[in-house]
Amino acid sequence: MINFNVPPYIGKEIDFIKEAIQNHKISGDGEFTKKCTKILEQITKANKILLTTSCTHALEMAAILADINEGDEVIMPSFTFVSTADAFVLRGAKIVFVDIRPDTMNIDENIIEKAITKRTKAIVPVHYAGVGCEMDKINDIAIKNNLLVIEDAAQGLMAYYKDKPLGAIGDFGCYSFHETKNYSMGEGGAITIKNKDMAELAEIIREKGTNRSKFFRGEIDKYTWVNYGSSYLPSELNAAYLYAQIQNPEIINNDRLNSWNYYFEKLSELKEDKKIELPTIPEYCRHNAHMFYIKTKNLEERTELINYLKKHEIYAVFHYIPLHSAPAGRKFGRFFAQDIYTTQESERLLRLPMYYGLKREDQNKIIKSIKNFYCKKT
Ligand SMILES: *Cc1c(COP(=O)(O)O)cnc(C)c1O
Repeated sequence: MINFNVPPYIGKEIDFIKEAIQNHKISGDGEFTKKCTKILEQITKANKILLTTSCTHALEMAAILADINEGDEVIMPSFTFVSTADAFVLRGAKIVFVDIRPDTMNIDENIIEKAITKRTKAIVPVHYAGVGCEMDKINDIAIKNNLLVIEDAAQGLMAYYKDKPLGAIGDFGCYSFHETKNYSMGEGGAITIKNKDMAELAEIIREKGTNRSKFFRGEIDKYTWVNYGSSYLPSELNAAYLYAQIQNPEIINNDRLNSWNYYFEKLSELKEDKKIELPTIPEYCRHNAHMFYIKTKNLEERTELINYLKKHEIYAVFHYIPLHSAPAGRKFGRFFAQDIYTTQESERLLRLPMYYGLKREDQNKIIKSIKNFYCKKT
């Protein structure tokens, strides 16, 4: 059986977790959190970055920092994970979904401006599959209309848009270290904050509304409750796991890119025969091989292919059911203008097994099965 995903494991995780236990420091903001933060600072060059308990929580922090309130509107694609919207719905915002581009499956930057109203507060681009959205255009629109940009870079660590690290281009950026992402700590994430004046408030919100971070740095001699907040800091055990993986982030990145390029090369034949479509990477984007997907002719063909692969013990999956068509999406949001690509393209998309350590022989089996499926069809 070939799994769809295997959580990343480099080998040193267990030693680092042991070290955290032996140091008698397993709650948050210890040595491993510091080490992870330092590496993430180097990768993202963000003014401020904080480890969080998930990307969902990083998005919640961003929504609080962006001062999203009842009745505000937030623009985002409908083709995304529920958390992108949840974080803003929790603050009482209305979600305005706009269509995606069929080539990258990212938000169509040319529709955003038309969807802006007097109540719009923020734009939330999602870098699907670690391929950058059109950030130059999105930032321009935001500046012109006095809006904030919150990047859902859950899938975007170690990927770049015009040499700028995804997740550190807008006002806030949110990463995920869930077990399905390139780098993991089981459950976890991080938030970047561009505005240096907001860094302290971010620390406070993450630490139950207290200035405990300042206290730990010795900047004050007593910590106290100074604002509202929650508990968004991950345990040292989780940070220790992550540290093993980002200590040398190229190990995972190169392995994934190798697998991605192999899929792309070997499946190009089917693309040329117009059987399937393959992902598009704009020339100025450097992706991180978070995902390898193909597009079938339609929903029916996708279902047939999934079943065919399953029969050959290969697990391929699809996502997302467009948020605007889900019960909560209808309740908390609206689709601006026409859904030309969101539903149609999401119904054709199929993700192939992709993880650190994916074996070449397994890839060959997957590629052969897909080719056999299309051979039989004609
Ligand atoms: C994985 C993911 C999330 C949620 O990440 P968690 O760390 O599980 O909260 C949010 N947005 C996108 C686009 C994702 O892929």
